[in-house]
Amino acid sequence: MIDLHSHSTISDGLLTPRALLQYAKSKGIKVLSLTDHDDVEGLKEASEEAMLSGIHLIHGVEISVTWKRSTIHIVGLNINSENEALLQGLSSIREGRFERAKIMAHALDQIGIKGSLEGALKYAKSGILGRTHFARFLVAEGYAKDVRTVFKNFLVKGKPGFVEHTWTTLENALSWIHESGGIATIAHPARYDLGKNNLLMFLNEFKEIGGKGIEVITGSHTKEQSQKFASVANELEFFASTGSDYHGPGISYREMGSLPNLPQECVPIWKNWNEVNALLN
Ligand code: AMP
Ligand code: MN
Ligand code: MN
Ligand code: MN
Repeated sequence: MIDLHSHSTISDGLLTPRALLQYAKSKGIKVLSLTDHDDVEGLKEASEEAMLSGIHLIHGVEISVTWKRSTIHIVGLNINSENEALLQGLSSIREGRFERAKIMAHALDQIGIKGSLEGALKYAKSGILGRTHFARFLVAEGYAKDVRTVFKNFLVKGKPGFVEHTWTTLENALSWIHESGGIATIAHPARYDLGKNNLLMFLNEFKEIGGKGIEVITGSHTKEQSQKFASVANELEFFASTGSDYHGPGISYREMGSLPNLPQECVPIWKNWNEVNALLN
């Protein structure tokens, strides 16, 4: 009934904010956060539709961060999407994305795939330009059978079209989230290639600078990974979050409304969100 991580056409989702809310409603979701990558533009339309459909919308964002050369995603929940520091910070990330996209297109050009910048832009309705848009272009051109296959053969480390990119710092991401009144949460923690020691170092650093939450349940976690991060959350006293990371039909790990509940021992991130608790109980 609660899903705190999802995407719309403002970033790399397939549904408009309005359609996403309607879809969530059809799946029995009562509390939804729209957390587009590096952009909060969709929250306006999402708020309007939330009013109409009776869904409680949590204003969110998923910020791309570089920590020790690894890309990490930080979800900000309950942000004020009109906060100037947040808006400016996100705008600078989007500019960096566009520069990266040009380099990616050049790299693909080198292996004979022409016109990928224009091609990817066709799939980016507004807001950000990212690898998923390039992936859709590559599928349309017949280079892979689906988006998931693209991410095996292109655009990832060691494969054509990969570009090392430096996103914003962890400190910046957290300061923007905090300045806008939000709460910072680590997205899909099992998806990072950090190694045991660096993961621990990262978790501690995140906590030291005011990070409060971690996704224990997410569309891309196995049962074992969820159990592992439930323990991590308890050991480090993080609130536990849950979200499907829904991107649209056919390209998501999980449907909305089909995630397991948070493990009993976890402290849900909505523990002190009275309105949300009233809806869920
Ligand atoms: P970007 O932030 O532009 O580097 O793109 C990252 C996005 O690519 C993620 O948010 C996912 O939507 C998508 N992505 C990354 N890896 C995969 C994968 N293995 N399969 C499908 N989508 C992926
Ligand atoms: Mn995405
Ligand atoms: Mn992510
Ligand atoms: Mn996401």
